[in-house]
Amino acid sequence: MQFKRTLLAMLGLAMAAVAQAQGAWPSKPITLVVPFAAGGPTDVVARTLGAAMSKSLGQTVVVENKLGAGGTVAANYVAKAAPDGYTFFIHHNGMATAPALYRKLAFDPLKDFEYVSMAVDVPMTLLARKDFPAKNLQELVAYVKANADKINLANAGLGAVSQLCGMMLENAMGVKLTAVPFQGTAPAMNALLGGQVDILCDQTTQTIPQIKAGNVKFFGVTTKNRIKALPDAPTLHEQGLKDFEVIVWHGIYAPKGTPKGVIEKMNAAVRTALKDPDVMKRMADLGAEISADKQLSPEGLQSWLKAEIDKWGPVIKAGGKFAD
Ligand code: ASP
Repeated sequence: MQFKRTLLAMLGLAMAAVAQAQGAWPSKPITLVVPFAAGGPTDVVARTLGAAMSKSLGQTVVVENKLGAGGTVAANYVAKAAPDGYTFFIHHNGMATAPALYRKLAFDPLKDFEYVSMAVDVPMTLLARKDFPAKNLQELVAYVKANADKINLANAGLGAVSQLCGMMLENAMGVKLTAVPFQGTAPAMNALLGGQVDILCDQTTQTIPQIKAGNVKFFGVTTKNRIKALPDAPTLHEQGLKDFEVIVWHGIYAPKGTPKGVIEKMNAAVRTALKDPDVMKRMADLGAEISADKQLSPEGLQSWLKAEIDKWGPVIKAGGKFAD
């Protein structure tokens, strides 16, 4: 009897703690995990959004960079994290390509997460080191075809969009180049600036300042249409790489089991951040577009992710690059 009463009292206390935690959420800083290096394109998106979200949530959003294996180390970490409303994850197309790229994946993008919202769509740009011997895409393609065995291509590992874009470029040019993987395109960009690697396909959220400063050779954008942030820049499609298109979308996730009320409040914070004039200006300057309205819901992200898994699986299998 005594035991039963103690048990009931403990249960009551635990339920009260959960209710209070949910009611008061967020009562401490929130972690937003970024799967690539600090200072890189995903990190820039995360920190810009995180700073604005901190304002409406009344708690700091702390960005934590968890590196490795093209973003899958971070995804696995978040999948296994406590679903207490204090760990979130921002990731891009890599969430959809990982199941096709990795034979053994320790997490399931469609089962191990709660979906908060999509955020922004970001174009990519094809770059080469400043002294690369080509003035335009035609010259680049000709040089790459003639010297394929000598040229290296930087990327951020299997699962990174730089890898996906590089693989699509290799397929389009009919060549195989030497891949040099980094733990994000921030260090890959440093290697390009230092002339240690030849080519990099990377998101505008990192590349626009380098392009504008003339620090790299720039051959075009990966969208079908020209972009507002670089209005004079041709697309790869219009220069002859027919139908070449890579757009980097971003989703925000939480570990499976995170309370629904928390997901709803987080979703509202993302929407508020995306309407913040400073965020809108910074995103526009860096070529990022706010995701379509219907994607700014948990269901919007979930169904988009599912469609992207179905879309990229066959493309990756045709590219033939896998890891265990
Ligand atoms: N977006 C990644 C980064 O932030 C790299 C990539 O996906 O290519 O470094």
